[in-house]
Amino acid sequence: MHGSPTQSSSHQRSSRQADVFFAAHEFQDRSHEHNDNAEGRPHEECGVFGIYAPGVDVARRAFFGIFALQHRGQESAGIAVSNGERIKLHTDMGLVSQVFSNDTIETLTGDIAVGHTRYSTTGSSTACNAQPILTESSEGIMAVAHNGNLVNAQIMRSEMEARGIEFQTSMDTEVIAKTIEELKHLPLEEALLETMRRVQGAYSLVLMTRDTLIAMRDPNGVRPLCLGAVKDAGDGQKWALASETCALNVVGAEYVREIEPGEIVFINAEGIESTRFSEPSPYHKNGSALCVFEFVYLARPDSQLMGRNVHFTRRRMGEMLAKQAPVEADVVIGVPDSGLPAAIGYASASGIPYQEGLIKNRYIQRTFIQPDQMQRELGVRMKLTPLREVLEGRRVVVVEDSIVRGTTTKRIVQMIRDAGAAEVHLRISSPPYKWPCFYGIDTAARKDLIAFERSVEDIRQYNGADSLAYISMDNMLAATGQPKDVFCRACFDGEYPISIPQDIKLTKLMLEDANGANGHNGDAAKTLMESASGDPGPESENEFSPVATNGPHPVTTVAH
Ligand code: SF4
Repeated sequence: MHGSPTQSSSHQRSSRQADVFFAAHEFQDRSHEHNDNAEGRPHEECGVFGIYAPGVDVARRAFFGIFALQHRGQESAGIAVSNGERIKLHTDMGLVSQVFSNDTIETLTGDIAVGHTRYSTTGSSTACNAQPILTESSEGIMAVAHNGNLVNAQIMRSEMEARGIEFQTSMDTEVIAKTIEELKHLPLEEALLETMRRVQGAYSLVLMTRDTLIAMRDPNGVRPLCLGAVKDAGDGQKWALASETCALNVVGAEYVREIEPGEIVFINAEGIESTRFSEPSPYHKNGSALCVFEFVYLARPDSQLMGRNVHFTRRRMGEMLAKQAPVEADVVIGVPDSGLPAAIGYASASGIPYQEGLIKNRYIQRTFIQPDQMQRELGVRMKLTPLREVLEGRRVVVVEDSIVRGTTTKRIVQMIRDAGAAEVHLRISSPPYKWPCFYGIDTAARKDLIAFERSVEDIRQYNGADSLAYISMDNMLAATGQPKDVFCRACFDGEYPISIPQDIKLTKLMLEDANGANGHNGDAAKTLMESASGDPGPESENEFSPVATNGPHPVTTVAH
């Protein structure tokens, strides 16, 4: 960018004055709830949203923006709003609708807002890890919301702590925030470009100073981030940023384009300007490594990625799977919700009728009530109910988007058999999931991935299906209409586009918990081989189990 509008800082203040107080409503600790989601599905870690719209109720639009991104994270939510003089922030544990009441939204007045919804892993599910977080820059106070995962966060944090920098959270986002703060002697644009040079990994960031909304996407563009124009709110340029296009629609914004890998976009009263990370991506020759799993499972079906609708891409995957792995059957069903488009595609290409055979309890919400042993054993039945009228006596093709640990799929196959199915044929619309993700998706350690060093036949036997077939990598990619090299596909082929530091790699690639040992001092290759045998993992034992609580609380912060 030339002549960054962010460098005019009439409101610039040299120090952060934060007045922290707690919201009036009684705190309810929800940090134990996230494990009711731990059925072995990979979890997106965050959704980010931003809006620049003077004269508009930006907090309310930010609420509906992150509400539309709820599928990307259900642990905590937060919105920061700037009125040009100060930034006010409200965060808490829980779903977006639990964190924000109408009264709370009405206290968040301003012209710019940043929202965040987060999924976190065990041990880090505390309110102090909710986002957005506040930091300082050359433009004064700044709010930071992050989707993705840094691979060098531990190294950077150790080095920064050695320089006397203190951290309040366990999030890698704070490493980004503290890096910006450390560089506040530089103009903001330079500080952000230098931050891009220092941090490695996946980051789609929405940032906000008191007068500017900023988008920043890593040079590989692993996590999605898009720009929309708000069209329904009078004169003047008004813009929105979101992890997915589905969040633009609900705030009255029209999709404009994706934020490009390595791009930084500044939006303020002077308009919209863009700058690029000047160095080509050191990790990926095409400068793009969008997570292909966004197409398979993570993104909402009504979103658009790389110009393609996600629902129709999943349907296409199902069509290609039907041609690649046909089977004689009476009915095709999908596993709700993400398996449904591929099931429809499979049915249409195969000519086998599609029906709903599994009904999802759409109103299931997180609960404070712990299930008893019987309910733990029921597991997936609390979420899915088989329709005997569709399944009984039939040869059933059941289409699922992926198998990660395998335990849930095994239960689903059993459930369909219990409902009287004559045969159960599993079809998976992504290739075998063999490698853990280090770029923002919470998956099991490698030893717990069922496809790790097991054949398709081994997995079929484990799941108890009559047949099992996965879509090929080529067919999955063909369904996206994009060349192979624009994607990260590491969880399927182990080709990580951003190098993973060895110590981080070991945390997911080594045998972590045999006999309670952590195994970090062993030989990685040997350990991987040792972990290849045995049961694919007791994920079911984790379902609904409580985790230690850490005393989180709803927080409202005002900073000038
Ligand atoms: Fe996506 Fe898999 Fe790459 Fe992670 S490893 S970013 S889930 S494609």
